[in-house]
Amino acid sequence: AADGPGGRRITRSTCCYCGVGCGVLIHSERIAQGERITGVEGDPEHPANFGRLCSKGRTLADSARSLHGRALWPELRGRRQDARRPVDWALALDTVAERLAGIVERHGPDAVAFYISGQLLTEDYYVFNKLAKGLLGTNNIDTNSRLCMSSAVTGYKLAFGADGPPTCYEDLEHAKTVLFAGSNAAYAHPVLFRRLEEAKARDPDVRWIVVDPRRTDTAAMADLHLAIQPGTDVALFNGMLHHLVWEGLLDEAFIAAYTTGFPELKQLLRDYTPRMSAEICGVPVQDLVAAAEWFGRSPAALSLYCMGLNQSAHGTDKNLALIHLHLATRQLGRSGAGPFSLTGQPNAMGGREVGGMATMLAAHREIGDDAHRAEVEALWKLAPGSLSPRPGLAAVELFEALHSGKVKAVWIACTNPVHSMPDIGRVREALQRAEYVVVQEAFADTDTVPYADALLPASTWGEKDGTVTNSERRISRVRAAVAAPGQARPDWWIAREVARRIEARLAAPGAAPLFEADAPATIFDEHRALTVGRDLDIGGLDYLRLESDGPQQWPFPAAAAQGQARRYADGVFATADGRARFHATPYKPVAEPTSARYPLRLLTGRLRDQWHGMSRTGRVPELFAHSPEPGLRMHPDDAARRGLKIGELVRVSSKRGELVLPLELSDEVGSGTVFAAMHWSGQHLSSGGINEVSQPAVDARSRQPELKHAAVRVEKAGLG
Ligand code: SF4
Repeated sequence: AADGPGGRRITRSTCCYCGVGCGVLIHSERIAQGERITGVEGDPEHPANFGRLCSKGRTLADSARSLHGRALWPELRGRRQDARRPVDWALALDTVAERLAGIVERHGPDAVAFYISGQLLTEDYYVFNKLAKGLLGTNNIDTNSRLCMSSAVTGYKLAFGADGPPTCYEDLEHAKTVLFAGSNAAYAHPVLFRRLEEAKARDPDVRWIVVDPRRTDTAAMADLHLAIQPGTDVALFNGMLHHLVWEGLLDEAFIAAYTTGFPELKQLLRDYTPRMSAEICGVPVQDLVAAAEWFGRSPAALSLYCMGLNQSAHGTDKNLALIHLHLATRQLGRSGAGPFSLTGQPNAMGGREVGGMATMLAAHREIGDDAHRAEVEALWKLAPGSLSPRPGLAAVELFEALHSGKVKAVWIACTNPVHSMPDIGRVREALQRAEYVVVQEAFADTDTVPYADALLPASTWGEKDGTVTNSERRISRVRAAVAAPGQARPDWWIAREVARRIEARLAAPGAAPLFEADAPATIFDEHRALTVGRDLDIGGLDYLRLESDGPQQWPFPAAAAQGQARRYADGVFATADGRARFHATPYKPVAEPTSARYPLRLLTGRLRDQWHGMSRTGRVPELFAHSPEPGLRMHPDDAARRGLKIGELVRVSSKRGELVLPLELSDEVGSGTVFAAMHWSGQHLSSGGINEVSQPAVDARSRQPELKHAAVRVEKAGLG
């Protein structure tokens, strides 16, 4: 931060919205009551955005200034039917620690669960993960990142042997063919999209292929839009690869020397002729062939993919089938080429790095690996055998276990599952049945807060320090520009204070204290010590280095002068034998097919100017100019068939629930398909949002739910 005249200050930080991770300069000033944020501009030196910001980033100051709805002091209630009352921090921390420790003593460590967030900073994530796994001995800690990128994680691990994209943002400027798959980057990653647009404008040879059932704003700009039937991505990619095999467009030498599993895949591909694949996908066969040709003959093909692949009961298969195209043609490990998953949230990557999920340990280690558990136990100075070998409960299972009573208590931090989880009626019931619910939040008006027995007020963007990792593995500092309002405290501090109290009660006599780190910098030092020797080694990166050299990509080992822009350039992968792996991946249909009763396919997605449940963007009036109200988009033919008119209220129902929305007519969706944005929630609607009807089927390997697709019925609401 740099101080200026009149108490004005500029603080270098990172945008808190999407995984692009744009650098920002926060302007603030001292006022009689303390200090306030006066403006935000893009950081011209940050390598993610070079000064650019999108509408959400540009209005950060407006959302940060608003104290409306902020959680300002701790609150507790003794019985579920009582109202919560404000208390001081000491009582709140003592009570939460006592309730959780008591449940662990009575029912064992797996009776407690944590549900945290890709919006938390790496340091927050680290402390929560250590509290759950290191202190309590449960792996029941999952995150809303499960809903956004866990299929990308399993795809990378299965294909390359390690998590994390092999690519970097510079590749956006060097790619000649860009394949967007299930990504509306124009809305969800706007600054990257600007970079791509500029690269395309500079080079007439750059071609874009967009794979998306909807004609999104990204698709509208494509040279080729493949409007596939929802969920048929694997058939498309297999059909493209079949064509590449047939035309001899593979890199046979690379496949032979650096990969395994291709013969089995090739055998499977016989069933995926372009004609048959195009039929499954509902696209013209010549378009499928054109996409394969553009990809296979390109000097540099880059794939950008996101929720459209990941939020699926077959998300891992979709990721693998796309990665196969890159491996078979060696479109990776060099400038402008590679499979590049775009993370939705600002720190989904950082959460993966610290192992803050139910299915992993710190620094990309595996829960089921005895040696990995022993390494973490040694680094955390735990007694051998302290870490649980049992995988924890992933998001959907976690709330299901709360519903069944297997899990008694949940601590929810910085996320709003009563809005974002599939089948939220079930999530509400689970929280009602829970013995104890802790909600740690910056905002007291989310849909989840009413279920809290303890509300712990957290500081938020502009008020807290730490780091985040963006989609290209780049670690950036997040810095506080102003003090948090009221009694709000940093998330890591709240988790650590409760942890210390539980430790005093539960830890074995003579056990080394686990929570001595008392600032973001020292927590980060602990985290990086765990990464040494791992694929994401950041032994050479501390806060001083980030201060002097700016944001850096991992890996960044001790001897490195800088981070690594691209991975696997030498063809050596992170698998045991160093070879990348193909997996014979057949196409499987969506988890919930349409039926006579539920004949329409519901797709969900995002709006350009809103973020998640609108906790922040909902405070900025100008962000409603683009899409002022919720709505259900339907093809005009489908509406005419049902006698529905634009603006009319319609009831959207599935096997799980229903909600009422105004009807919008649009040919961005094909006949038989409807679309609704996921942002609007119970704060804005008489019911909850679109997740009243979404379905909780999960991918068997990534355990990510199929939030993108459900079978629904739409009819006149018939209200009053
Ligand atoms: Fe923030 Fe993402 Fe917009 Fe950048 S692109 S300003 S990170 S919301």
